[in-house]
Amino acid sequence: MILEFSFNYLSSSLVYEKIIIRTVKQFLLKSEILRNGDELFLYVESDDSDELERFANKLSLELPHSIFLHETNVIVVDEMPEGSFVLAEESKPDISFCPKCLGEVMDESNEDYYNVFHECEVCGYSVEGEKKSYKENFVNLAKSISDGLVVEVNTFYGKYFVGMLGKKCNGVDFDIISYALSTVAHYTNATNSEIVAMGAIEKPLIKLKTNIKFKMDFEDITNELIRFKLSDDLVLHLLLSELNKLGINLIFITKEKLPFDVKFDLVEYKKESEPIEVVVSDNHIAIVKGEKGLPYNNLENKTLIPHIGAFFSVIKEHSLLDKTVVGVNISKEYHNDILVYSKKFGTIEYLSFAFNFSSIKDVLDSIVSTNGTGKKLVENFKNKFPQHFETISAIVFDEKDFNVYKLWGIVSIILGYSKEKDLAKSAKILEESASSFLGTKGPRIDYKLKSIENKVYLDPLMTIRTAMSFKLAQVDQLTLSFGVIESFVEFISTQLDEIKEEMKSDAVVVTGSLLENRHLFSKLSKEVSVNHKLYFNKELPVDGKNILYGGNELF
Ligand SMILES: [Zn+2]
Repeated sequence: MILEFSFNYLSSSLVYEKIIIRTVKQFLLKSEILRNGDELFLYVESDDSDELERFANKLSLELPHSIFLHETNVIVVDEMPEGSFVLAEESKPDISFCPKCLGEVMDESNEDYYNVFHECEVCGYSVEGEKKSYKENFVNLAKSISDGLVVEVNTFYGKYFVGMLGKKCNGVDFDIISYALSTVAHYTNATNSEIVAMGAIEKPLIKLKTNIKFKMDFEDITNELIRFKLSDDLVLHLLLSELNKLGINLIFITKEKLPFDVKFDLVEYKKESEPIEVVVSDNHIAIVKGEKGLPYNNLENKTLIPHIGAFFSVIKEHSLLDKTVVGVNISKEYHNDILVYSKKFGTIEYLSFAFNFSSIKDVLDSIVSTNGTGKKLVENFKNKFPQHFETISAIVFDEKDFNVYKLWGIVSIILGYSKEKDLAKSAKILEESASSFLGTKGPRIDYKLKSIENKVYLDPLMTIRTAMSFKLAQVDQLTLSFGVIESFVEFISTQLDEIKEEMKSDAVVVTGSLLENRHLFSKLSKEVSVNHKLYFNKELPVDGKNILYGGNELF
């Protein structure tokens, strides 16, 4: 009998290939591996169906879940294909422990029990150390932390400060490491898809809303979004295992230098790398930050080519060069637009989100000079909020690229949600308000287009105007903020449908750091998937940093 295992596996890291080869060797089987784009196939043949079953069970235990894995399947086939798969000789990415090594390190009867340096050809950080049990070190370390001490700890990928959640991390920008997924599920609003992603071998950070009420004199952070992850190296895993025995299942971890009581430098890490953060919907996952464990991590010569570079990196990652592809670029920092690429006509900017204002006064004056209703709206706003109107009229911008995120910043200031003149910081307040909204539908905020010299732009004034009207109608901050973001996704979705109608596009690529917004990402993923094939980056952060090739060669 011949079995075909197929994996829709969007990673070039070879983690699956190596584990498959290692597992096959333990059985009496004839096997072949084939790679076809994003599809990885394994064929195994044996006359002994029990042996095949034992193999299938073993493989399912040995193969970790991966954020790059989208679908798996097993079928019986008649023929064994001709394969010529050779494992490429290349350095392995820095990745947390594989299931096999973890099993060995946690097994009291194994010679690698609590050996923090244990790793294999698939996993680990290539740091050498004496092979022995470090059990006592971790027992003591856990004791220090449970006593309320802060520890400066060397992980396999950098120096961090860890400790118990509470006043020691007050005012610090920290992430939370959890011992188990069940604890994350208990304390956050994580979806099933997010929980599954968090357990993957890449051990990504995911930003979640938490309901943890900290004891001691810690301020209530219930409304904040905090990044959670599971341990992503053996230092943290062995520490959390010991803490778990003391009844502690969550600790903070931060890069910010804190006064510390204990130094734990068992491990001398080779190079620092930033853990990855992902955003997860039920259909898609995108990497928003970091590089740890990504194959591109090792590339030197990093050049920053935002926007078009990010678009083309996704086109190349998904082999879409022969298609007509629409690119939605929604970076928080750079220029935003919608591009259309096809082999026939190259790349065109279909719609630009660029605009320019020097100050809030400039914005309000522009609304006044648009038409009579605009004039009336600004007058009403001024009469209703005279003090506020005067304060914001004095705000002058110091910005280069205006984009959607900065537009939200302007809205946030005008509506009185932010006192910051920095538009990105103001936009963040609006984002946070939207994520605290508990309802399902906000007011409909206008995103309308206008033409200037044959080019199509988003009209920022229409968005600001509708937001002002809802403020006058006393719609509260959370509901209105939610509406601003939700309506934008609906606008993008409608634009994409029109472009498809007009230009017969085959696929949609979305890039940019605005995808970090969990609500925006999941709504976009859901709505756009209805009518389009939707792609995000595979192994690159969404803002197209670390990209070696730009789009220029294709113009
Ligand atoms: Zn391993």
